[in-house]
Amino acid sequence: MRFSDAHGHFHTFGLEKPLLEKCRRAICCGTHPGDWQEVLCLSDRDSRIEPAFGLHPWYLAEAQPDWLETLRGLLGETPRASIGEIGLDRTRRSPALDEQEVALRSQLAMALEFRRPVTLHCVRAWGRLLRVLDEAIPPDWPVMLHDFRAPGEMIPLFLARSGSLFSFGALPCIETLREIPAHRIVYESDAFSGATSSRSLDGARKAIISVAIQQGEESLVVNERANAALDRFLEHSPAA
Ligand SMILES: [Zn+2]
Repeated sequence: MRFSDAHGHFHTFGLEKPLLEKCRRAICCGTHPGDWQEVLCLSDRDSRIEPAFGLHPWYLAEAQPDWLETLRGLLGETPRASIGEIGLDRTRRSPALDEQEVALRSQLAMALEFRRPVTLHCVRAWGRLLRVLDEAIPPDWPVMLHDFRAPGEMIPLFLARSGSLFSFGALPCIETLREIPAHRIVYESDAFSGATSSRSLDGARKAIISVAIQQGEESLVVNERANAALDRFLEHSPAA
């Protein structure tokens, strides 16, 4: 059986790696205008690669003033592209959260304009992310919360947004994983190098499968369901 990888940066190391031999479908996220063309080239060469374009908070300070227009052009020319990786990050290397929020809101507006799903990055800013989502896009809009690590009390609030999908990597928080209904879980390598990507995806799958087995399910069902969840995310057209 082949797997889906909900989140990775495969353009940074090329295709000839074990991960992609196992993959049926993989979302490849750009993070700044300088890598969007590489993502596009890779997705042109391999139909399993699903391109996503976005400005990640880590690269906000370096982006040229016209980045949003570049993104708009690229989305217009690439109907199969989703938006990502975008979000909020409260770590020392990131710019002020207010600036990040402006960029996030502009890209969420673009998701509405082009009717695209969105992959989100969040580090220690979950309350603020939820507020922005609730204000900017309808609750049934397809958003993927990559490497989901929100505090326990916030999990029901993210679950209440019916379009949310929850993605887990090689070292997920098992307590969090147990709180998420199985049909809303996908797994990811978050691959940015060929050396670790295959191991990461295997680790993520194993963690998710072990929780599912504890809950009385079979591993094959888990894989099929994660594949179906990712397909729904990519193909879902939110209601007008
Ligand atoms: Zn990533």
